[in-house]
Amino acid sequence: MSVQDVPRRNRPVTTESSSLRRASAEIDLDALRHNVRALRARIAPRVQLMAVVKADGYGHGAVRCAQAALTAGASWLGTATPHEALALRAAGLTDVPVLCWLWAPGDPWDRGIEAGLDMSVSDMWALEEVCAAARATGKTARIHLKADTGLGRNGCQPADWRRLVGEALEAQGDGLVKVTGLWSHLACADVPGHPLNAAQVDVFRSMTEQAEKAGVEPEVRHIANSSATLTLPEAHFDLVRTGVALYGLSPSPEIGTSAQLDLRPAMSLRASMALVKRLPAGHGVSYGRHHVTEDETTIGLIPLGYADGIPRHASGRGPVLVGDDVRQVAGPVAMDQFMVDLGGDEPEPGTQAVLFGQGSRGEPTAQDWAQAADTIVYEIVTRIGTRVPRVYVDGGDERLMP
Ligand SMILES: *Cc1c(COP(=O)(O)O)cnc(C)c1O
Repeated sequence: MSVQDVPRRNRPVTTESSSLRRASAEIDLDALRHNVRALRARIAPRVQLMAVVKADGYGHGAVRCAQAALTAGASWLGTATPHEALALRAAGLTDVPVLCWLWAPGDPWDRGIEAGLDMSVSDMWALEEVCAAARATGKTARIHLKADTGLGRNGCQPADWRRLVGEALEAQGDGLVKVTGLWSHLACADVPGHPLNAAQVDVFRSMTEQAEKAGVEPEVRHIANSSATLTLPEAHFDLVRTGVALYGLSPSPEIGTSAQLDLRPAMSLRASMALVKRLPAGHGVSYGRHHVTEDETTIGLIPLGYADGIPRHASGRGPVLVGDDVRQVAGPVAMDQFMVDLGGDEPEPGTQAVLFGQGSRGEPTAQDWAQAADTIVYEIVTRIGTRVPRVYVDGGDERLMP
C-alpha cells in the first residue's frame, strides 16, 4: 500500500494543555497525594513516612512534591545532598524534619545545623566535621548514624560501628550532637525474596541494639526504601523512606506495575509535533543513516532530545503516542529532537505527542521507556532536563513552573 492510499486523518491540533508549547512535563499532584495515601495504607499507623525528594523530586519538582506529600500524610522529607535540603528550608518548609545523607568533606555542616537538618554520619571524618561545626555555631547537631548492613556503599561497617557509636555518644555528652536516628539502606529490595534482604534486616537489628545498649535513644530507626515499603513489612521499623513509589512508579517490574500496586504515575511527558512530512523509500532519517525508510512514509519531528533527558539508547525503540497510535523513535535521538515514523499518517503540526504518562489512555509509561533504553525507571524521570517546563495540575488548577 502506498502512502497515497492511506486516508489522511486530519486530527485537530490538541490544545488540551495550553502550556504544552514545545514540550512539557505535567505533574499531577493529586496522583502524588494518592500515592502517599496508598503507601501509608501499607505501613502501620505508628510508622512515619519520609517523602524522598532528592534530585529535584526525581525530576518532578522537589518543593511542590514535598508540599503535596506533607498534606497527604508524609511527616519527614529526605534528600541526598545538604544543598537540596537547605533549598527546601529556603522555600519555606521549616516545620518538618529533613534528613540529608550524602555529605562530602567541607560541606556546609554549620548551615545544616542552623537550618535544623538531620544529617547522616557514616564515618569518623563526618563526625569530626559535624562536631567542629557544632562548636562554631554553639548549637547541637541532629545526626543519624548510618550502618552498612550489606549494601557496601555509604554507611559504617559492623567492625567500625562500636567506635563510631562510642565517639558519637561522647559528642552527645558534650552537647555537640544528638543522635536522632539509626539507619541503613538495602541492596536488593527490588528483588522480593532475595536472601540479602532478610540478612540485612537482621544485621540492622543487631547494630541498632548494640547502639541502644551503648546509650543511643534514637527517635527513628529506618532501612526501607519504596521496594521494602511495598514488599518487606519487617523492614518498616519506625520510618520508611519512599522515593520512586511516591511519584507513582513501581521500583521494578518484578514488584509489579504501578496499577497493580495502586500507584499513579505523576509525570506525563508531552511534546508538540513540530513538523510532519513525507519521505520517499530509501531515505535516511536523522544522523548517520542508521534508519532508512523501506517504503514511502511520513515522519514527524518531536522537539525533545537527549539534552532533555530522552535516552539516546532508546533510538529506534522508544514509544510515543500520536493520536490513537503508538509510534516508535526512528533513527537516533539527537540533542534536541528526534523523529517518529508515522506510517503514512499526516497529523497536523502541533498535534500532541505523549512520550509517557499514566498508561491508562493508551500512552506508553516511563517504565516502557526504561525498557526501551535498557535502564531503570528512576533514570528516565530524574533526567528530564531543565529545558522542559513542569506544569502542575492540582485539583484542576494548572500552573506553569518556573
Ligand atoms: C534514593 C534513596 C531512597 C529512596 O529510594 P526509592 O527506591 O526511590 O524509594 C531511600 N533511601 C536512600 C538512602 C536513598 O538514597
